[in-house]
Amino acid sequence: MNRVNYSREMDRIMEKEEREGRTPSLLLQVCCAPCSSHCLELLREHFLVTVLYYNPNISEKAEYEKRKAEELRLIEEYNRQVEEQDFTGMHSTGKAHRIAVMDCDYDAAAYEEAVRGLEDCPEGGARCAVCFDLRLGKTAQLAAQNGFDYFTTTLTISPLKNADLLNETGQRKAEEYGAVFLPSDFKKKEGYKRSIELSARFGLYRQNFCGCRFSKRDAQRDAI
Ligand code: SF4
Repeated sequence: MNRVNYSREMDRIMEKEEREGRTPSLLLQVCCAPCSSHCLELLREHFLVTVLYYNPNISEKAEYEKRKAEELRLIEEYNRQVEEQDFTGMHSTGKAHRIAVMDCDYDAAAYEEAVRGLEDCPEGGARCAVCFDLRLGKTAQLAAQNGFDYFTTTLTISPLKNADLLNETGQRKAEEYGAVFLPSDFKKKEGYKRSIELSARFGLYRQNFCGCRFSKRDAQRDAI
């Protein structure tokens, strides 16, 4: 069976929008600053991006706030570049747009409720599918409620995450809420490598576990 090239699908949509002279709005669910560095560098050239930091999976609250603060710091830097038209060292055609932020509450209870009974699943298993469902469902709902042209997630930049499952989940949630999902596979075309470069350049806080307390437990176990 031929696998879908989601990166190519996204390029096609961006090319079509550009041909038709549009700069559509996009609600982007971000997991952390390192992962979003490349995604934002790319997407701000083609979309009016609003970042949604919706991550009820992250434990504990201090870790959630630390990642959120780092995300906001990165956005501030990217917006400074746009204001000053200073794209030194960035991949930019000079058409980058400012990035907006949609705030939301830390809702750890929603995650704990969703993954009950899946505590012992390995990373990449059934617990992650539920986690994707939760985060993409909320993003689709907010995209529909607020009239965004598209929504998507930075999660496909991770080589550890199943891009097929993420794209299928995004599409399913789009249909459920009446929004439009932007397919992606951000790790393609050296996207993951670029996120490492940008993280180093901006000194972004990078953690060694995905986000939930189970991934932290597994990372600590593997380090022994
Ligand atoms: S390992 Fe990551 S994707 Fe999987 S459940 Fe935990 S936070 Fe979510």
